[in-house]
Amino acid sequence: MTRILIIEDEAKMARMLARVLREEGYVAETAGDGRTGLSRALDDSFDLLIVDWMLPERSGVQIVRGLRAAEVGIPVLMLTARDQVEDRVEGLDAGADDYLPKPFALPEFLARVRALTRRPQGTSGGDGASALTVGDITLDPIRHVVRRGSERIDLTATEFALLAALMQRPGQIFSRSVLLDSVWGVPGEVSTSVVELYVSYLRRKLDRPREPSHIRTVRGVGYTFEPRP
Ligand code: CA
Repeated sequence: MTRILIIEDEAKMARMLARVLREEGYVAETAGDGRTGLSRALDDSFDLLIVDWMLPERSGVQIVRGLRAAEVGIPVLMLTARDQVEDRVEGLDAGADDYLPKPFALPEFLARVRALTRRPQGTSGGDGASALTVGDITLDPIRHVVRRGSERIDLTATEFALLAALMQRPGQIFSRSVLLDSVWGVPGEVSTSVVELYVSYLRRKLDRPREPSHIRTVRGVGYTFEPRP
């Protein structure tokens, strides 16, 4: 049972999205303002949040910041009428996992929802059953857990998907566009600078100060995940 919370102040829009999601077999609930939406997202266990950018009480960006500050890694799909690059980067920087500019076609909306709700299993490829271990990092695609040694590292859905892609083939160099394609899966919609942004998030969470990064930048080519010496 996949539970989705829609935080959207336009009642007609919220009702329509909830109906479409229920028709697809999801459990969909709605919240009409940012404060209610954030507190419900923090109190309850949803599998996905669909968050409008412009909301009364708390903006979509404030909601995402609030979740991430509380170390809640639930995937967030941000809906926005603003589709300028700077706004996307602000939202992604705050911790949203994906973006959908309004107006959008419902098949595209559902495709994004499927991608975000399936990601933990889908990113591992193959049977997806076994944990990946490279050096001191272990990634469990079933439980959606990453550890450095015995310490648990909390990642957002996008950070998790990117790490899983890199850890599939340790030592292989991935270009930014290959990573963009395999993690975000929407060619041409998002710039490759998003890959750089998310590599920086992963480094912040995975690496220890004054030690070489787990993710090595190969200048002019891309990134590789290597066991540390
Ligand atoms: Ca709105």
